[in-house]
Amino acid sequence: MRIECIAIGTELLTTRRLDTNSVWLGERLADLGLGFHRKTAVGDSREDLGGLLREALDRSDLILTTGGLGPTFDDFTKELFAEILGVDLVEDAQSRADMLAFYEARKRVPPQVNFKQALIPVGAEPLRNPVGTAPGVWWQDPPGHPGARIVMMPGVPREMKRMWEEHVAPRLAVLAGKAVHTLRMVVSGVPESNLDERTREARERHAHLEWTILASLTQVELLARGSDPAQLAAAQADFEAVLGPDLACVGASNLEDAVLDGLRAKGQTLAAAESMTGGLLASRLTAIPGASQVFLGGATAYTLGAKAALLGLDSAWLATVGTVSEPCAKALAEAARQRLGSTWGLGICGNAGPDAEGDAPVGAVFIAIAGPGGTLVKPHRMGGDRVEVQLRTTALALDLLRRAVAAGTASR
Ligand code: ATP
Ligand code: MG
Repeated sequence: MRIECIAIGTELLTTRRLDTNSVWLGERLADLGLGFHRKTAVGDSREDLGGLLREALDRSDLILTTGGLGPTFDDFTKELFAEILGVDLVEDAQSRADMLAFYEARKRVPPQVNFKQALIPVGAEPLRNPVGTAPGVWWQDPPGHPGARIVMMPGVPREMKRMWEEHVAPRLAVLAGKAVHTLRMVVSGVPESNLDERTREARERHAHLEWTILASLTQVELLARGSDPAQLAAAQADFEAVLGPDLACVGASNLEDAVLDGLRAKGQTLAAAESMTGGLLASRLTAIPGASQVFLGGATAYTLGAKAALLGLDSAWLATVGTVSEPCAKALAEAARQRLGSTWGLGICGNAGPDAEGDAPVGAVFIAIAGPGGTLVKPHRMGGDRVEVQLRTTALALDLLRRAVAAGTASR
C-alpha cells in the first residue's frame, strides 16, 4: 500500500509552526506495520493544493491529509477533492447536529460560516470529531480511483489525534491485517506530568502495549493499544491498583457517566445549584440518557437576587459573606439538597473573569458538596480564560462528586 501524507497550512511553510502531525502519523502507521512513501507540506493555496491532490490520487493508494477542514475562506480541502473528483458536497445531518451540540455546550451560537463544515463529498463518509466542530472524511473508492482511500483530518493536533485513535486507526488496522484493541482510561484530579510519572513503572510493565497520554482541559486520558485483549485486561487491572480512586472511568465513559453510575449503584440522587458555571454541570449530566433516574434537577442561580428567589438564601447575609465565597457555595449546595430532597446537593460559585469581582480574583472558585455526613467546601483557583475556567470548574465539580459518592460522604 503506497501511503502519502499531505499537511495543509501556510504556517507550516514558515518557521513559526512545524508540521508535527505527519511525524505523529508516521509513528502511528509504524505501529500498524505501515509507512509513508511520501509526505508534503503545502500552503493554503487552491492552485498548489489542487495540483498536489491530483498527483497524489495518481500515485498513492492511501492519502492522509490534515488541515483545511475549518470554516474559513482558506479551508477548502474537501471542496478541492470533490471538485477534482467531480462530485458535489452534501450536508451530513449528524455532523450538523454534532456541531450545534458542541456550541450549545459552550453556550455559543455557531457562526453561519461554520455550517459549511458539515458538508461532505457525495460517496464519502464523515468521521466524527469528538473534540472539535470539523468532522473528518473517510473516502473509499473515490470516482475514477477504485481501491484508493482518502482520509481527511483536522489540522489541530489534538483533534487530529483523537480522530485517528477513534476512527482511522481501527479501520487501517483491519486493512493492515492486524486487529488493534484500545483500552481507554480517564483519570481526573491528577495533572498530566504527575500522571506520567506515577504510571511510568506500570507502563513499563506493559511495554508490549502502545501507550499514549492525551490531556485536555478537564481530564487526562491514558490509551493503550495492542492486539491481545488479555494483555489489555491485565494492564487495566494493574492500573486500577496503581491509580485507585484517581481512575475515574474506563472505556467510552466520561466523568459525568462516572457520577451517574455511582449514584445509580447506590440508589441515590443529586440536585445542583450553579452560579458561575451557568448550568454547564446540569447540561453535561443531562446529555446522558437516563440521567433523570438520579439527577433530579437544579437551578442556575446567577445573580444574588436569583440565589435568594430560587434557593431562599438571605440577600442581606449573602451581601455580607459575598457571592464568591465558601459560605455562599455551602448554602447553595444545602439549599439545592433540601429543596429537592436529594441525597446530594452541589453548589458552585466563583468568578470566571475577565475582571475581579469585589474581593474575588479571576478564577476564584468554591465548590460545595452537601450529603450524608455533612458538607465539604473546596476552594480552588482556576487558570485560563472565561470559558476555560467554567469548563474546568464543571469538571472539578463532577470529579469531587464522583469521589464523594464512592466514599459515601462528602467530608474527608
Ligand atoms: P481544521 O482542519 O481543524 O479546521 P485548519 O486548517 O482550519 O484545521 P488551522 O487554523 O490551519 O486549522 O490550524 C489550527 C492549528 O493547528 C494551528 O495552530 C496550526 O498551526 C496547527 N496545525 C495545523 N496543521 C498542523 C500540522 N501539520 N502540524 C502541527 N500543527 C498543525
Ligand atoms: Mg488551515
